[in-house]
Amino acid sequence: MSTISKKMCMIGDFGVGKTSLICRFVDRSFSDQYLSTVGVKISRKMLELSNPNQQDQLNLQVLIWDIEGSTKFKAIAPSYLQGSKGALIVADVTRPETLSNLSQHIKLFLSVNPKGYAIVALNKADLVEPEKLAKLLEIYQFPEQNRVLGVQATSAKLGDGVDQIFHKLAHSMVQPE
Ligand code: GDP
Repeated sequence: MSTISKKMCMIGDFGVGKTSLICRFVDRSFSDQYLSTVGVKISRKMLELSNPNQQDQLNLQVLIWDIEGSTKFKAIAPSYLQGSKGALIVADVTRPETLSNLSQHIKLFLSVNPKGYAIVALNKADLVEPEKLAKLLEIYQFPEQNRVLGVQATSAKLGDGVDQIFHKLAHSMVQPE
């Protein structure tokens, strides 16, 4: 079985739940405590995927880059995004400004990585009514060049949608270009 390694990065405004989503996916835990990250943190997760070229399985080591919490105050550096095959772009469903900023984040990621893939997480889904969530999922659609794989509701708190969104992105990251 072959093993490959790919970089994925988390993009989104301050406090939307980027670090919490990684914790849920990598460690299967959730902390209500607020820990603003410092610098860039890289988490590793091994995934077993079907190999798009052959019939066998493929071990994918995903290196998940999480930027420091203070992105509120400065622009995301292209060097943070460079060489990233995938981006998980996150908004907080309770904060409309984080939803409005999604398309800007997508554009930035694809300008640095035109052959990359992005997927959008509408996070903190546990905090809104299902009807409101359904409406948001209808409004926020990003058909950019098929490079945006979709928009999904997630809850880092409950775990809903978390494995699914990371796996969907990881699958695209191993497709031949
Ligand atoms: P980051 O700045 O984007 O990395 O955001 P954090 O992961 O640090 O999360 C910011 C705050 O939102 C923390 O207090 C988390 O506990 C909380 N949080 C994150 N995800 C969720 C979620 O899905 N549901 C709820 N209710 N709270 C969340």
